[in-house]
Amino acid sequence: MPSSSTPPNNLSASSGSSKSSTAPASVADWSAVNMAVWAAQGRVDERDVPLALFTRLVDEAVADVGDAQVHVALKAQERDASLGASEALGKQVWLRIEAHTHLPLMCQRCLTPVSTQLLVSQDLRFVASEDQAAFEDEESEEDVLALELSLDVLALVEDELIMAMPIVPLHDDCQPDGYTAEPEVAEEKPNPFAALAALKKPQ
Ligand SMILES: [Zn+2]
Repeated sequence: MPSSSTPPNNLSASSGSSKSSTAPASVADWSAVNMAVWAAQGRVDERDVPLALFTRLVDEAVADVGDAQVHVALKAQERDASLGASEALGKQVWLRIEAHTHLPLMCQRCLTPVSTQLLVSQDLRFVASEDQAAFEDEESEEDVLALELSLDVLALVEDELIMAMPIVPLHDDCQPDGYTAEPEVAEEKPNPFAALAALKKPQ
């Protein structure tokens, strides 16, 4: 087939969009990050990312996610290694990920979609090797990962969002057809304080 004449850059094609958000449309600069450089820069980045870009999350959705967004805030920093740590240069590379969105999941009580909030607030620490990461992750509150030269930050954010998914999604308050509340039993029980009061009464 002859190649089309579609321009390689489609930014202009979307300029007619009604959206006036200042958030960049692209997260391409998150796909191959040298996190050590980010940390040395003390990089802070915050933006809304289309939920549709998180394909593993979208696979879990039971309804169209439309143009839903994921709000993501990243903060990279160097911290001094604690005494005895084997980090090169005595510096540790950390990344804080905060993210939130809503994902339509299946309510396990009524089996209809429930818009489920996913909330991430997680520290990641990067170490020299996979082995070291696996060893230290066991005993660390933060997530410990191997510091690769090129990290896909969007994938890291998605990993955290997936871990934030509830195992059993439920509506806060749902009563499926045929559901009947447990009968109130409280009134049938004798009031213990009334019983106590009766005992205390003079005979
Ligand atoms: Zn429900």
